Amino acid sequence: MLKGLMQDQPLLISSLIEHAARFHPRGEIVSRTNEGPIHRCTYADIHRRARQLANALVGLGVHGGDRIATLAWNGYRHMELYYGVSGMGAILHTINPRLFPEQIEYIVNHAEDQLLFFDLSFVPLVERLAKVLPTVRGFVVMTDRAHFPECSIPGLLCYEDLLATQTSDYEWPQFDENTASSLCYTSGTTGNPKGVLYSHRSSVLHSWAACATDGLAIGSSETVLLVVPMFHVNAWGMPYAGAMCGARLVMPGPALDGRSVYQLLRDEQVTLALGVPTVWMMLLQHVDSERLNPADELCLRRVVIGGSAAPRAMIERFATTFGAFVVHAWGMTEMSPLGTVCNLLPKHAGYSLDQRLSLQEKQGRAVYGVELKIVDDALASLPHDGVAAGHLLVRGPWIARCYYRDDDSAVLDDAGFFDTGDVATIDPDGYMQITDRSKDVIKSGGEWISSIALENAAIGHPAVAEAAVIGVPHAKWQERPLLIVVRKAGQALERASLLEFLAGKVSPWWLPDDVAFVDELPHTATGKLHKLRLREMFRDYRLPTSR
Ligand code: ADP
Repeated sequence: MLKGLMQDQPLLISSLIEHAARFHPRGEIVSRTNEGPIHRCTYADIHRRARQLANALVGLGVHGGDRIATLAWNGYRHMELYYGVSGMGAILHTINPRLFPEQIEYIVNHAEDQLLFFDLSFVPLVERLAKVLPTVRGFVVMTDRAHFPECSIPGLLCYEDLLATQTSDYEWPQFDENTASSLCYTSGTTGNPKGVLYSHRSSVLHSWAACATDGLAIGSSETVLLVVPMFHVNAWGMPYAGAMCGARLVMPGPALDGRSVYQLLRDEQVTLALGVPTVWMMLLQHVDSERLNPADELCLRRVVIGGSAAPRAMIERFATTFGAFVVHAWGMTEMSPLGTVCNLLPKHAGYSLDQRLSLQEKQGRAVYGVELKIVDDALASLPHDGVAAGHLLVRGPWIARCYYRDDDSAVLDDAGFFDTGDVATIDPDGYMQITDRSKDVIKSGGEWISSIALENAAIGHPAVAEAAVIGVPHAKWQERPLLIVVRKAGQALERASLLEFLAGKVSPWWLPDDVAFVDELPHTATGKLHKLRLREMFRDYRLPTSR
């Protein structure tokens, strides 16, 4: 083969912030801080301070490949760490603070983190953990001297003091683009969390996919609210993609309640917001209870929803109440996370709202860089007819090939595909729809019932705040669905009327055998329904149809 004659420039994360500082120097980063007030800075500021941080890290004896952990909300200092740590060749390990302390202890020790940077809100947590993290040789609280906490953390350093002593004179080192850049652990709802180790190359390629028009279409004209946390798959890659295109970024800090999110949407004139369904549920409840009129007050054009299935009722509410288009997207920690995005094709231009909603309920088409296939239990490929549901397998340059410090884990098949653990259909236009996690699918009389489809149908009832469906043992059918519902505050709703509502919306044999009402549903650290815990909660439950 004859080699091409193009420049071999490594794809490095530092090049993203260099580009933003040069071509979008006044592009704004707005942060709600832990200390309270709104903070404003620019890409040029982030670049300058990330270089000061890199100098400080060198001073603290950090070398390329060292793991530097964060326990922090979305904000400008966290963004400086994204660039300062990875840019100098070390690895940014973002930790989900919603994990149990024992899980955090496990992953810090597994990653052998050397330094831990954390927000003020995590002082008590770090005080508790400091004694059991032997590899961590330094703790840095991400605040200034005026807010420096009284606490028992040994040798605690102050972030702003650390930066103040450094110049921004720093040349980003050039190295192999396959060098590791950041580390994120899956939430480990079953078994121990597993580390996904991203590279500079995978992160830069993923940013291009996120910016692309048929990806998430991010550009310099957008004001992007990152409700998705920076400890959840790098906030879906937004801090990188934002710098690539110079988008204005809005970071909500710790305040993810409906009122605070609405305030930011309004005051910062956000055009695009990204997050999981649970936060949007809180926003919609706030809009309802305060009788707000978002279409008049906001300029929100698009809402990217992923992490769990976006229910049809939610997609519709955003369309009718906000005048905003829901971009349904799917991915996972192991996929950086972007896999599919539900954008419309030209042929859908004349669709009615109803037709469009049916399409938007699907998780969308693969972005360039991600190959999809569905297979049956015997690993034979299934047709893309929108009906056949099978195990969803993926392949691409920003998809994990194994887990960190678990090199023996055979996670790919012979053709290099990764099993996502999801069950899906793919229609002839390439629109993929998740029907379930393979471990949550309800196996009834040899057929599969989609728990997600039932949940979404139930959420369409005006008195339902949240719904979950699990399979419970049945004497005749092996398993049958049990619907577990949280009623909206002050609403009356009974079993019979809810089942009547569902009849006609799903096949008759999918109808739940029973409905249980609860005050709240358990969630995982990433805001998904915690089906494992639900199954434990209902372990002794017997279906009336099976007694
Ligand atoms: P966790 O750490 O909980 O695994 P991830 O974000 O990696 O967090 O979870 C990925 C999983 O979330 C996917 O495999 C899929 O089951 C689910 N998921 C993500 N996006 C969607 C979506 N749009 N619709 C349905 N399920 C989704």
